[in-house]
Amino acid sequence: MRPLSAHNLLRVWEVGENQHPLDRALTLLAAACPELTWDDLAALSIGQRDGRLLRLREQTSGPQLNGLAECPRCSERLQFDVAVATLQVTADADGGEEAWELATEDLALQFRVPNSRDLAAVVDCRDPAAAQNLLVQRCVLQASRDGVPVDSSALPVEAITKLAQRMAECDPQAEVLLDLCCPACDHAWQTLFDIVDFFWAELAAQAKRLLREVHTLARAYGWREADVLAMSARRRQFYLEMVT
Ligand SMILES: [Zn+2]
Repeated sequence: MRPLSAHNLLRVWEVGENQHPLDRALTLLAAACPELTWDDLAALSIGQRDGRLLRLREQTSGPQLNGLAECPRCSERLQFDVAVATLQVTADADGGEEAWELATEDLALQFRVPNSRDLAAVVDCRDPAAAQNLLVQRCVLQASRDGVPVDSSALPVEAITKLAQRMAECDPQAEVLLDLCCPACDHAWQTLFDIVDFFWAELAAQAKRLLREVHTLARAYGWREADVLAMSARRRQFYLEMVT
């Protein structure tokens, strides 16, 4: 994995701006991991994908994340700082489509955890139950009751609930919770941290800032966009200070 250069960052922003977040995540990783195909990346579990996105964010912009949240009790807007390392729940797992097992009183299931393709398949389901059933059918590899194979589309609700819990345990990086506390009213709560949304918002802001810098320097010196982008951020900053 390589950090996003200024040039790559703009390319990713251009391509991903009109994409669904599921595809944006893969566009980001494709730019950083040219040795992997789109299919390889889409087959990563959501936790593996998010672990890589966290690493890419760290390599590109440093180990500290600064975010904004709103207190659910008093609506105070608060800023939070968190180290990427504290959001890395699991050591990087590069394993492909690993099979896991779950045994209930009478059922034995073999399953894999959802990847980007699975989520893309259910993205248009309006009914959450239908989405869950479709995910189960895609991710359950084998199901049997007392040794007799059963159809994964006919699993009882309790088994599906247990399966969802087990999937979350097997891929903990897929759901990262942040502990937040409101400085105004002392309310403490947990919020889901979505690295795709976070990274994208930050990248879009960086892309626009870069383009403004290119505009300023191109106008002042007549330099080409590619040359301005190829400079280190430090050097670009120095020239910007000279002309503004
Ligand atoms: Zn509050």
